[in-house]
Amino acid sequence: QAKKQGKNQYKLFDSALEQRVQKAIYIEEKLQQAITLKQFELYFQPKINIGSGQVESLEALIRWPNNGRMIFPDEFIPIAEDKGLIGKITECVLEMACDTLSQWHGLAHLKDLSIAINISGKDISVDNFYEKLERLLSRYKFNPSLLELELTESALISNLSNVKATLKQLKKLGIKVAIDDFGTGYSSLAYLQALDIYYLKIDRQFVAALLSEPKAEAIVQSIIDVGKNLGLCLIAEGVEQAEHLDKLQRMGCDQAQGYFICRPLPSSELLKFLSAAKQAV
Ligand code: C2E
Ligand code: MG
Ligand code: MG
Ligand code: MG
Repeated sequence: QAKKQGKNQYKLFDSALEQRVQKAIYIEEKLQQAITLKQFELYFQPKINIGSGQVESLEALIRWPNNGRMIFPDEFIPIAEDKGLIGKITECVLEMACDTLSQWHGLAHLKDLSIAINISGKDISVDNFYEKLERLLSRYKFNPSLLELELTESALISNLSNVKATLKQLKKLGIKVAIDDFGTGYSSLAYLQALDIYYLKIDRQFVAALLSEPKAEAIVQSIIDVGKNLGLCLIAEGVEQAEHLDKLQRMGCDQAQGYFICRPLPSSELLKFLSAAKQAV
C-alpha cells in the first residue's frame, strides 16, 4: 500500500510540475502577442500622506485582461523576466504611465500627482536603462520628477555598481526611487548607504503583523528610525485597517498605502475616488 501511495504521489507531483510548465509555455506565447498588441492596462493605487490624508502619488500596477479575466502580475512577470520579455513590458508600462502624466499635466487639479512604476531588476541592470528613459521623457512636457520608480532589493544586488550609477543619474533628473518590500529581500544597510534612494517601502508582511506581534512592531519601528536618520521618506504598504494607520502615524511613518485607504483602480474610477476625496474637481 505504502509503495503504491508513494508511486501515486510521485505521479501527482509529476503532473503538477508538468501543469506548471505547460502554463508557463502558454503564458509565454500569449505574452508575445499581448506585448505586440499592447494589451496591458494600468491600475492605480494611491499613496497618502498619513498626517494630512492627501494623496501624494499613485502606484501603477500592471494588469493583463485575457479571455474575460484579469491576469495578475505575480502570474506573468516572473515568466516575462525568465524569458527575456520584461524589457518590452516595462517599455509598455512606462509609456502608459507617461501618457497618463501627460494627460494630467493639462489639468490643474491633477498636474502635481506623481506616478510610481515597478521596475524589475533585469531592467535596471541593463546598461542603457537611463538613456532610454531620458529619451522617452524628453518626448513629454511634464516634469520628470513626477515619475517614481519602485525597485525590490533583489534588483539591487545583481549589479550594485551599475545600479548605483544609474540611481545617481535618475536623482539628477528628479526621479524618486523607492526600495519596495523593504525588509524581506537581501536587506542590507550598505544599499542604504551607497544608493540614492528617496523612499523606503515597509513590506506588508510586517504591517499585517503590526498589531499582533511585538517583533513585527519592533522591526517596523527600527526601519522607520533608520530611514528617518538617513532622511528618507517612509511608506507602509498593505494597510488594511484604521488601527494600522493610527499606529503607523504614532510610529513616525510618513505615507501609507493599502486596501483600507483605496484598492488599485482603473484610472476612470481612480479619478472618482480623488474627487470624492476632494482632491479633484
Ligand atoms: P508591489 O509593488 O509590492 O505591489 C503591491 C501589491 O500588493 C499589489 O499587488 C497590490 O495590489 C497589493 N496590495 C495593495 N494594497 C494591499 C493591501 O492592503 N493588502 C494586500 N494583501 N495587498 C495589497 P499586484 O498588483 O498583484 O502586484 C504584485 C507585484 O507585481 C507588485 O508588488 C510588483 O512587484 C509586481 N508588479 C506590479 N506591476 C508591475 C509592473 O508594471 N512591472 C513590474 N516589473 N512588476 C510589477
Ligand atoms: Mg511596488
Ligand atoms: Mg511592495
Ligand atoms: Mg511585492
